[in-house]
Amino acid sequence: MDKKHQFETEAIRTQLERSQYLEHSCPLYLTSSFVFDDAEDMRASFAEEKDRDIYSRYSNPNSSEFIDKVCKMEGAEDGFAFASGMAAVFSTFAALLNSGDHILSARSVFGATHSLLTNFFPKWNITHSFFKIDELDTIDELITPETKVIYAESPTNPGVDILDLEVLGRIAKKHNLILIIDNCFASPYLQQPIKFGADLVIHSGTKLMDGQGRVLAGITVGSKELVDKIYRFSRITGPALSPFNAWVLSKSLETLAVRVDRHCENALKLAEFLEKHAKVNWVKYPFLKSHPKYEIAKRQMKAGGCVVAFEVKGGVEEGRKFFDSIKLLSLSANLGDSRSIVTHPASTTHSKLSVEERLSVGITDGSVRVSVGLEHIDDIIGDIEQALE
Ligand SMILES: *Cc1c(COP(=O)(O)O)cnc(C)c1O
Repeated sequence: MDKKHQFETEAIRTQLERSQYLEHSCPLYLTSSFVFDDAEDMRASFAEEKDRDIYSRYSNPNSSEFIDKVCKMEGAEDGFAFASGMAAVFSTFAALLNSGDHILSARSVFGATHSLLTNFFPKWNITHSFFKIDELDTIDELITPETKVIYAESPTNPGVDILDLEVLGRIAKKHNLILIIDNCFASPYLQQPIKFGADLVIHSGTKLMDGQGRVLAGITVGSKELVDKIYRFSRITGPALSPFNAWVLSKSLETLAVRVDRHCENALKLAEFLEKHAKVNWVKYPFLKSHPKYEIAKRQMKAGGCVVAFEVKGGVEEGRKFFDSIKLLSLSANLGDSRSIVTHPASTTHSKLSVEERLSVGITDGSVRVSVGLEHIDDIIGDIEQALE
């Protein structure tokens, strides 16, 4: 398939060459290693004179198909697939950074990423500074000669704040820094950060990419040069995605566009309902006109995503009552699932942060995060409405 097709077509038609059995749907290659013809083949394969699979810690047909699809979706040259989103985040940083280097990160990042930067990287003398979303104008002041990377998510988890990717791209270019964007909340269907100047894009495949809450996965895609460094590190350290999970993910991507369209349609309807509800203090959703970064979201995203954040009036007590009254939706910590999920970030995903740290990224004790699923919207709104009463 040489001609570049539309997003949906690439997601469906990007596939491995057929095997001798001429299967229509890609088979599962559950094999840890691959065989050589003779001594010369073995030598040449290990010397990387041939582009072929050797061992599934390095590459596997199923992960290659998954990587090819995501590269086409994101407009990237190359990628590496990981066992989880956090394996992707950790390995990407660890492959690119040395002791003494400095990371400039948005303050509002996934809880485990925050913990990696603050609790673990300092052990190897990799330091960080956080910038606030509204401080992009003065971010230059935080850049030191040791700064190597700018890191951000948009939309953010769980606050669904929006960062201007074009501005970040310009700053990274000006200072010759690597811009890494965690694009998990948008999915490649809604936003392609490479267009705005990102060098690398990270996803937790666990979320919208799988879309049915079955497997953990992660992926990093970007320039050949940077991905090669990540590949060298990862083929030695072993965070590779399993062939089975890669196979599941690659199938899931075939339906990403239709699923995400419906997620977004449902999420916008729920956000509009909550905005008018008397027991709700505030609602945040990127495609609501009341969102402070609505214009930027419209510019860089196709739709608003599956996550709606809001605050129940009455603090912790009323918040608890709300969660205990939910009947249909799941109380869980995942997102991007076909089943709608309500989460309390302060006691779950972001519980490792101090109260001050949580408040600085907009998480109050009464904050609720809803990952809006694919059930009928009337049933989703109905359950939340009765729980608020
Ligand atoms: C879930 C998530 C991750 C981590 O992914 P896992 O697959 O759970 O390891 C990273 N970034 C964001 C924004 C996430 O939502």
